[in-house]
Amino acid sequence: MKDKKELQKVTNCALCADMCKYSCPTYLAAGSETISPQKIARLIVYEDKGLLEDRKGFCDVMFQSCMCGACKRHCIYSDYDLRKFIQMGRSKAFKEGMLPDETKKRVETFMAYGNPNGERKLIQKGMGTVGYFISCSAYKDKALVKAMDRIISASGEKVQQFGGADICCGAPLYYAGDTKGFKKVAQKMKREVERRRLGKVITMCPNCLKMMREVYPEMGVKLNAQLVHTTEFLASLLKEKKVKVKKARGTATYHDPCILANDMDITAAPRQIIAALGYEIKEPVYTKEHTHCCGAPPGSRLGFSKLADQVKAMRLNELKQTHADVYVSSCPSCKAVLSELDVKDVAELISEHMRHG
Ligand code: SF4
Ligand code: SF4
Repeated sequence: MKDKKELQKVTNCALCADMCKYSCPTYLAAGSETISPQKIARLIVYEDKGLLEDRKGFCDVMFQSCMCGACKRHCIYSDYDLRKFIQMGRSKAFKEGMLPDETKKRVETFMAYGNPNGERKLIQKGMGTVGYFISCSAYKDKALVKAMDRIISASGEKVQQFGGADICCGAPLYYAGDTKGFKKVAQKMKREVERRRLGKVITMCPNCLKMMREVYPEMGVKLNAQLVHTTEFLASLLKEKKVKVKKARGTATYHDPCILANDMDITAAPRQIIAALGYEIKEPVYTKEHTHCCGAPPGSRLGFSKLADQVKAMRLNELKQTHADVYVSSCPSCKAVLSELDVKDVAELISEHMRHG
């Protein structure tokens, strides 16, 4: 590692007491010390010093973190994020052609279609300087696309909805360690935002928001637009009474998407919406900044389905313990992964409770 300060940081992590592992969903779900944060840091330091012989084993461990940021949240150092070093490890794995099979398949689809899901139609609806970007994960969920469209129409707001085809934030390439490919996609998104003359971009997927807000600027790509999450947009519509809703009865449990809570610090807006709809919120034990990742779709952030399934099972159990009437989230991937609980997005919940006139 050229930067000695950075090497010192990850070395400190490798020598730490590893207490953050009790917040690490992959460690908790799989019970494997090898993939606890401190042990990952240790491997990174050993690799840097040329002490490792099992190259493939090293690369595989880099893809056994769900990149959720719980270790950053619970770290003893205020300016440390282990994921930065895991990301470097992923970049090496990508360059050396040592991606896990599922991640490799996702990248190949991306290369062929410009998105991780394969061929799809362009969505283009509405006009105005406010854009709603329909992410790859939201695109697949027709009920979600419909719910947002219904809310936007009822609100009278001028919103350009766009997505589908080869429009993507690039997160699949980022998490696969394809830094060059990701930067190109980020530049393409910048052109897309400029061509559409957008001053504000709303995204539903927390990862799209993280890419645009945090990772693009790290790569030297800055979008000249305000970047907001759908929950922030929807909470303001309710507050300004641009959308009127009927009060519901019952209890609701909200699952905080890890990236939204840990990286974007958005935990209040979704709860304001659920409370405004009349639900009593029943919090799971691990909630807000203590949330646990859902495991994310196979091959996206975790390179191994078996581990993703273990993380998912753990989160489902935690949520089920609240015995709520409704389970809610605000990430299309979380909704799909946690489908066993019939999780709804906050947008769908609003759409169901909308009053006309
Ligand atoms: S991420 Fe922070 S708390 Fe966790 S092992 Fe590393 S230095 Fe320690
Ligand atoms: S990012 Fe999440 S899964 Fe990865 S080591 Fe940190 S806490 Fe564990």
